[in-house]
Amino acid sequence: MPDCSAEYQKGLDYMARRGMQALCDSPVTEDQPFLSVAFTAPELCARCGSCVGVCPSNAIVVGEKFYPALNAGNCVACGLCGDVCPGGEVQYADLAEQVFGEPFTDRGFDGWVENTYVGFSTEERIKKGGAGGGVVTGLLYHLLRTGQVDGCLVTRMNHTTPWLGEPFIATSFEELRESQGSRYSIIPVNSLWSQLRERPGRFAAAILPCQVHAFRKLQKYDPELAAKITTVIGLFCGGSLEPDLSSEMLLVRGIKRSDITNFKFRGGDWPGQMQAVLRDGRVRPLHYSNYKDGAYNYFTSLYMPERCQTCLDGSSEFADISVSDAWTRDENGEYKFKEHSRILVRTQVGDELIESATAAGDLVIHDVTTDPSYKTHKMQTRRKGSLVPIRVDRWRRAGRKVPVYDRAIPDDVTVKERITERLSSAMLRAGKFKPFRIVFMGFLTSMLAVPLIKVRLYLKKRKYQRRSAAKRGAQ
Ligand SMILES: Cc1cc2nc3c(=O)[nH]c(=O)nc-3n(C[C@H](O)[C@H](O)[C@H](O)COP(=O)(O)OP(=O)(O)OC[C@H]3O[C@@H](n4cnc5c(N)ncnc54)[C@H](O)[C@@H]3O)c2cc1C
Repeated sequence: MPDCSAEYQKGLDYMARRGMQALCDSPVTEDQPFLSVAFTAPELCARCGSCVGVCPSNAIVVGEKFYPALNAGNCVACGLCGDVCPGGEVQYADLAEQVFGEPFTDRGFDGWVENTYVGFSTEERIKKGGAGGGVVTGLLYHLLRTGQVDGCLVTRMNHTTPWLGEPFIATSFEELRESQGSRYSIIPVNSLWSQLRERPGRFAAAILPCQVHAFRKLQKYDPELAAKITTVIGLFCGGSLEPDLSSEMLLVRGIKRSDITNFKFRGGDWPGQMQAVLRDGRVRPLHYSNYKDGAYNYFTSLYMPERCQTCLDGSSEFADISVSDAWTRDENGEYKFKEHSRILVRTQVGDELIESATAAGDLVIHDVTTDPSYKTHKMQTRRKGSLVPIRVDRWRRAGRKVPVYDRAIPDDVTVKERITERLSSAMLRAGKFKPFRIVFMGFLTSMLAVPLIKVRLYLKKRKYQRRSAAKRGAQ
């Protein structure tokens, strides 16, 4: 029999209030199909934190490597964790109907977009501290400052284990400043929902695509809790990375974890660089060059979690606003918009937020809706548009567990794309072996990688110059 702890009773009260029936009479075990996918097929778990956050009896907590862990004695078998889980299934038709009130049509990588802007926060510290132009934090600060929300669901590096990220609710300018920047690592932000049950007020969330999918499911299955979150800012996401990355990087660079106070994924000048902040205040760069041209580029091929490898959504297609880096380049391959973010407005909530923030002078934006050069993210478009569907289809045929999608594999897949998918999957499989990762990372973060960076820069520059020469020739 389950013990009748206060948490268990809380769960029973919650179910009674909502007229819910328990989905099993016997004590709950981890193989129950109504639980989130983490317990029956951990390879499908996105570690988004939603099952932890939605559980009304705190029977699920964040466990090792951010996977959820079940305290079966507290479980009231309500099934909410399974209902909101985005790991096993994402139905685009349902989400499109729910968020945009229209049937789903494939609009490519960016998804459903009302308007596109590039911009930056006018608060200089927020702009400087951002991964791009500090737009996400600028918008959250605007909501907080103007009393439209009472807190923001965001992330930071953990104060006691600074090589790992953690989610938290920011309620001040200083806390929002601490949350700034990208942490390319799993952080179960949706686990914060559990705090919202008890906490009065309205909130905004800055989250990744899988977390947005789960939030939309929450709106369907627990509208009362979901109503606490009034604005969802989605981040673009090429895939998160395993939390082991930071520890292993420190190991390879000969830095003790106990010697650092912070780990930055994009520290220093834009576009940033991975850095360790030491106890004595010194900042140690962890690789050569920057985020865009240095070692980070290859980490997605080594450290991407299995569920991210089968994710189709790279642009947070169902957020109110999605924010990405603004990678548009000129004819010499130089970035046109340093320290800017790209903003895709998708819903009325998003539209009103942009209007409110610009009217208050908190955000400067430039409308690029009709300018095709802002259709950036070509690699991602290819990865999410063809490589991932090929992989999902191939793994399914091979009997592996894959998420259920209502989107088919495109008809025009080329042999080259099939080979590329095989190679990238092989690399990701190799990345599961720690000795391989360590040796490869040792190379990528050493002086030996400098020629590789130079070749990469040369090829990029040549590509952009050729492209603009071809454009001029065609005119
Ligand atoms: C795992 C990950 C992958 C990404 N992949 C891409 C990509 O492929 N292409 C692209 O254009 N952009 C990507 N981004 C988004 C990009 O890095 C910037 O976050 C975005 O451009 C916003 O910049 P900003 O200056 O406006 O935001 P800032 O003002 O710097 O705010 C950043 C916000 O992101 C939140 N955040 C940071 N790390 C995480 C995390 N791990 N989980 C949830 N929230 C987090 C912070 O809490 C903060 O609220 C990714 C971000 C993450 C976290």
